[in-house]
Amino acid sequence: MFKKKTFRFTSILPVFLILIILAVALLIERNGISYQNKNSENTYLSTSNVKTKVESLSEVTVSNLVIYDSSNITSESAIDNFKQIFEDMKVGTTYIDISNESVPDFENFDTVVVLTPDLEPLGEMAITMMEWVETGGNVMFAMTLQKDDVVSIIEHKLGIIHSSYLYNTVSEISIKNNFMLGSGRIYKIDDPFESAWAVELEDNADVYLTTGDDKQVPLVWKYELGNGHVVVDNFGIYVKAMRGFYSASFSLLGNIGVYPVINSAAFTLDDFPSPVPTGDAKYITRDYQMTVSDFYTNIWWPNMVTLADKYGIKYTGVVIENYEDDTSGNTERQSDSSRFTYFGNMLLQMGGEIGYHGYNHQPLVLSDISYGDTFSYKTWSSNSAIKKSLDELIDFTENLFPTSEHSVYVPPSNVLSEESRNVLAKDFPNIKVIASNYFPEEFVYDQEFAVANDGMIESPRVSSGAMIDDYIKLTMVSELNLHYVSHHFIHPDDPLDVDRGAKQGWAKLYKKLSNQMAWLYKTAPSIRNMTESQMGGAIQRFSSITVDKKENDSSYIFSLGNFVDEAYFMVRFNEDKPGRVTGGSLEHLTGNLYLLHATSAKVSIAKK
Ligand SMILES: [Zn+2]
Repeated sequence: MFKKKTFRFTSILPVFLILIILAVALLIERNGISYQNKNSENTYLSTSNVKTKVESLSEVTVSNLVIYDSSNITSESAIDNFKQIFEDMKVGTTYIDISNESVPDFENFDTVVVLTPDLEPLGEMAITMMEWVETGGNVMFAMTLQKDDVVSIIEHKLGIIHSSYLYNTVSEISIKNNFMLGSGRIYKIDDPFESAWAVELEDNADVYLTTGDDKQVPLVWKYELGNGHVVVDNFGIYVKAMRGFYSASFSLLGNIGVYPVINSAAFTLDDFPSPVPTGDAKYITRDYQMTVSDFYTNIWWPNMVTLADKYGIKYTGVVIENYEDDTSGNTERQSDSSRFTYFGNMLLQMGGEIGYHGYNHQPLVLSDISYGDTFSYKTWSSNSAIKKSLDELIDFTENLFPTSEHSVYVPPSNVLSEESRNVLAKDFPNIKVIASNYFPEEFVYDQEFAVANDGMIESPRVSSGAMIDDYIKLTMVSELNLHYVSHHFIHPDDPLDVDRGAKQGWAKLYKKLSNQMAWLYKTAPSIRNMTESQMGGAIQRFSSITVDKKENDSSYIFSLGNFVDEAYFMVRFNEDKPGRVTGGSLEHLTGNLYLLHATSAKVSIAKK
């Protein structure tokens, strides 16, 4: 009998053990979540460790010469965009305007970038430049060349065996030879025109980008000339949305190309949490036969949770307290906070973050700005009214979510005046990041990935919505290659807004969004999923870091400036395969392109 009892107890023991394990696992998971939230507060660097890109760039040895021509309209219109590219890549560069400056000795530089389509003003200097390349120099022609006498003399040194006076339309582009992240998809170009010079290349020219049609017109190629390298960009589009194609081309020069990246994917949910959005509920009724409020609870949010679970996305939701239009500075506490706590707490439990969007959805601008027909928003009566509204929003948010990080501000409709932006920086020290828009538009506060002089972190959203058009696909691939970044946002009220695809129905929109996220995580599987504050910390490190590259017979040595704890770089090995790494680790991305995670101020990579 005694024996029997023991037997019974041991048969229950495994079940009991499983229960204990489950309880412990649950506890660890919960602690893990709270640890993550706490940890995100520490992602920011202390201000003494942060430098602006301009400050850090001033510590870099000049190695690059950009030749442009302010009297040429194409060259003149592109120079600012290229200055930004080289600033972001931390390439020390001298800019020479050949319309009024003389070209310095090429021997002083490792690389030369020709940023004008017209080589006539260079005259014999173009020939001298190609002779310098033959002795081991590196040149990139960044603009589609205009066939003229000078170009005809040097074109065979660019790997061209035959050229005409004709230009081909670039309506689609295709990445070749695993040149960049994102190959295997055709990228369509909006408003295409005859922007590519019709050329035939020698067999030993390496072609990295072509038109997507049967002609396969070469759009980026590299040619070994004597001891040097020539890279030609022949697609003729110089917009912000194509920067990554230029950074990738530039890294083809020399034995090794290296530039800092952010390595971050963030996803903002604008107006979330907020009161139930207003808008045209017609398509919700059509597809779901339920109220807008029920649609968000039962369809939209579960879909967004599924998406986040699949890829580990950490949403940052930005709060709108009400949808009224009082801009006088008189505020009233939102009486119904149930939706805020319901959605907000679920978002936090998923490892997400809550930020600020507005007391209401009226952008922070004063009456000196007139929206005309563009917006029906009201302007604010004074700076003090703006401050009162922010005080209320911050207090409301703190009360609802007292334990989480709130340091990110997203301007309503991406509209924010310079003056109000400075109010945020000066009077609201808990706001460390402004996440507005990458691309300029009327009234829009457009940004670069940067730390401003006053310490504010500028963290532009690059893409938005669930319609995912050709332009979004192009900008996303460009930014993956330039900054190794994805920064997307959607509005929950997209399914209520015809301009943002409501008519297609949420099911279709959600599928398009899901497909694009599938593309992102297939193209950049290791990109770090981050909240907005974590991305802000990554931008501080990116802003500060510099890299000085040296090489000997057996290895490449990178000395990093302003290194704090970690930094990421795109590295392209043009000559050797990488071997053993000290001071960091390498991850293969595609072709000869790698992601370097530096964990020390000195990194060495053996040549294999
Ligand atoms: Zn909004």
